[in-house]
Amino acid sequence: MSKARITDPKIENTITKPIDEVGRIHIPIMFYKRIGVQYSDKVMVTSTDDAVIITPKKHVCYLCGSQKDIQKCGEKYFCKSCIEEIAKQKDE
Ligand SMILES: [Zn+2]
Repeated sequence: MSKARITDPKIENTITKPIDEVGRIHIPIMFYKRIGVQYSDKVMVTSTDDAVIITPKKHVCYLCGSQKDIQKCGEKYFCKSCIEEIAKQKDE
């Protein structure tokens, strides 16, 4: 497993919180707002040798894996290109 590294940390807020008996910590909502996530959104939690990093889960196209121009259709995410391709095949 490769080691993730923080190459350009932009640390602007630091808090100290206790870890509870089951390993949870309370993170202020303003931290989540800053990275564009809210209640019930999925996030990625990554560990390095000396940090735990929480980042928004990036949605990828269900068909091609692209992260560009993603839209949610039902329960899946598709890129604009695949949506256009599906629409084109439907019309044929
Ligand atoms: Zn796609």
